[in-house]
Amino acid sequence: MTDRKTQLAANLAQVEQRIASACAAAGRKREEVTLIVVTKTYPASDVRILHELGVRHVAENRDQDAAPKAAACADLSLTWHFVGQLQTNKVRSVASYADVVQSVDRTKLVTALSAAAVRGGRELGCLIQVALDAEGAERGDRGGVAPDGIGELADAVAAAPGLRLDGLMTVAPLAGPYAGRQRAAFDRLMEFSSRLRGNHPAANMVSAGMSADLEEAVAAGATHVRVGTAVLGVRPGLG
Ligand SMILES: *Cc1c(COP(=O)(O)O)cnc(C)c1O
Repeated sequence: MTDRKTQLAANLAQVEQRIASACAAAGRKREEVTLIVVTKTYPASDVRILHELGVRHVAENRDQDAAPKAAACADLSLTWHFVGQLQTNKVRSVASYADVVQSVDRTKLVTALSAAAVRGGRELGCLIQVALDAEGAERGDRGGVAPDGIGELADAVAAAPGLRLDGLMTVAPLAGPYAGRQRAAFDRLMEFSSRLRGNHPAANMVSAGMSADLEEAVAAGATHVRVGTAVLGVRPGLG
């Protein structure tokens, strides 16, 4: 194995161990949680190695980086998740390679994603990104709709041609009442998920938890964790 492959294999094994322990502690089956590796800022060659190591779900947060990376890895069977704040002028590009858009947070985006999916002849999975620190009609600093807006947005996705409502996503807030209280934040997201499933039973995906807080997310009931740093290393600069 190359040095990089050895390193990624070791990191992946460690993350796998953490997920398995968290599942065991929560009385959940390991298969109930899917690992999504967030490959942002890292090259397509790393995505290729991760695929060789068995990773099947990857995530990116910027279209400029994701589009060429996805193209370079088009021969691999991977599910691509888009997890970043999304401008409508990037939607056509994102809809051409993403399988799931986890950052749906406004109706304008639903309309644009639907048009792009139909035009491209693709079905796009959508998660409503919830900003637990936003209120009323606000959106969060890092994207996401305030809890009050989930229902309307979910109905819009469910009714939109080319889109499939898969569930909810959140990033633990850095500010507000949930700052530093990841478990409480993820428990709250699970309540919104239960409510959502009342109207949309198939929308059972709950994407929560990153390198620092995946245990809390698994304990709360997350079905998908998004892990970057713990697998690939600390990102240089912002990202
Ligand atoms: C970068 C990112 C992650 C992964 O964060 P790490 O702390 O590196 O594991 C997860 N979710 C989103 C939305 C991200 O942008």
